[in-house]
Amino acid sequence: MKIADIETYLVYSGGHRAGMIGGKNWLFVKVETDEGIHGWGEAYTQLNRDKTIEGHVHEMKRYLIGRDPFNIKHFTQMVYNDFAGRRGSMELYCALSGIEQALWDIVGKKLGVPVYKLLGGACRQRIRVYANGWYGGADTPEQYAEMATAVVKRGFSALKFDPFPGPWRLYVDRKDEQLAVDRVGAVREAVGDEVDLLIEVHRRLAPSHAIRVGQMMEEFKPFWYEEPVPAENVPALAEVRERVNIPVVTGETLYTKAAFREVFERRAADIINPDVCNCGGILELKEIAAMAEPYYVAVSPHNYNSTSIGLAATVQVAACLPNFIITEYFVNFAEVSDAISVNPMKVENGYIAIPDTPGLGLELNEEALRQHPYFQAPKRALREYYDEGP
Ligand SMILES: [Mg+2]
Repeated sequence: MKIADIETYLVYSGGHRAGMIGGKNWLFVKVETDEGIHGWGEAYTQLNRDKTIEGHVHEMKRYLIGRDPFNIKHFTQMVYNDFAGRRGSMELYCALSGIEQALWDIVGKKLGVPVYKLLGGACRQRIRVYANGWYGGADTPEQYAEMATAVVKRGFSALKFDPFPGPWRLYVDRKDEQLAVDRVGAVREAVGDEVDLLIEVHRRLAPSHAIRVGQMMEEFKPFWYEEPVPAENVPALAEVRERVNIPVVTGETLYTKAAFREVFERRAADIINPDVCNCGGILELKEIAAMAEPYYVAVSPHNYNSTSIGLAATVQVAACLPNFIITEYFVNFAEVSDAISVNPMKVENGYIAIPDTPGLGLELNEEALRQHPYFQAPKRALREYYDEGP
C-alpha cells in the first residue's frame, strides 16, 4: 500500500471563548492510499497560526506520496531529521501530528482493528473527561458559580477553568490574585466537594505570584494547578511544585519526548498534559507517557481540538496508558464537531466509551466539513505599550 494524496480542511469551530475572539479553525488532514483506504488526522491550531500549519502539511505531502503508510515511526524521524534539519517548531509538530494520526487510522482500517489494540491493548473500558469551554462571558465569582453549576448538571464531574482576569502577564496586582481566588471559591461552594476543579493558569505568572496565589487556593482542594509559570523554565515550575500543595501540570506546549526529559529529571510536575495533535502524534504521546511511568507522573492529554478526530485520537491512546487519569473535552466545540462527524462520540456521565471500530473509530463527513469553512477572525485588541500598567 502506498500513500496517494493528502488533503486538508480548515473548519471553523463556531466556538467563542472569553478573550478569544472568533474561537478557532480546526485543521483536518485526510491521507489517501492507492488501495482506496483513507485515514483522518487533526493538527492542533492556534488563532492566526492555522494557515501556516496547513502550509507545513502541504510541504510534507510532497515527501510522503509513494511511501508505505505503515512506516509511521520512520516518517516522524524523517520529518525531524531530514525534512526539518532538526529544527522543531509548534507548526512543524502540529502538521506532523495530524499526518501521523491519519497513518494510524489507515493501518487500523487495513488490519481491521482499533488503534489502541496495536499499542498494547486496553487498560480501561472508558475514558474520563473534564469539561472546558463552559465559562465564556463569566466575570463575577457568582457568574462562574452559576455556569459551573449548569455544566455539572450536564453530567460532568470535573471542570477546568482559568480564573485569572486580564491579559497574560508575569506580574499582576493583588486584587487580580484575590479575584482569581474568589472565583475558585465561589465555584467550589456552588458545585460541592464531589466535583473536581482543575485550575488553569496558562503559563501566566512569575513564580512569586504563582506560589502565593496557589497557596491561597489550596483550601478549595483543586484537582490540579496547570502551567502556573511559563513552560520553558522547568526549574521555576519545580519551585512552584515544592511550595504549593496542589498537583502541578505541564506539557501542552512541549513537543516530543525530548522536551519532557527535564520535566521528569527535575521532578517538576505531578501530571503531564501533552496534546496528541501537537506533541508528535499517537505513538509519540504513548512514548512520552511511558517515560512518565517510572517517575510516578500521571498523564492527562490536553485536547484544545475538535471533539471529533482530535478527541478520537486521544481516546485511542488514553485507552492503553496505565498512567492515564483524565482528558479534556471542550463543550463549546461539541455542536459543530458532532455535525461534521459521521459517528460522533458521546459523553455519558463524564465518560467516553472506547470505540471498537477499526482505526480511530471516527469518520468525518466531507460535505459537512465544507459547510463550516475557514473563518478569518476579526483582529484582536492586542495591547499597545500605553495600555500596560506602571
Ligand atoms: Mg492549558
